[in-house]
Amino acid sequence: MSLSEPKVANLIVCPHCGNSSEFFEISDDVITTTHYVQNADGSFTIESKSAQSLGDVKLFCGNCEEDLSSFHQRFSEMIF
Ligand SMILES: [Zn+2]
Repeated sequence: MSLSEPKVANLIVCPHCGNSSEFFEISDDVITTTHYVQNADGSFTIESKSAQSLGDVKLFCGNCEEDLSSFHQRFSEMIF
């Protein structure tokens, strides 16, 4: 009885330069919310930060800057 091979994930690969390791994302119209806690001395400490994009989110190759937005949905499902 042979063990089945673990499934290799379908990597996103830049069709232009073959990069499969570095990507960046640009979001339009981003609202950032930052929660602060005020300390006894009047200073503030950041407790948490969140960002919500109301506009387009685009994905680019980190190597050649090719627009990879067609992969963006898959990309966003694979962020852990
Ligand atoms: Zn590329």
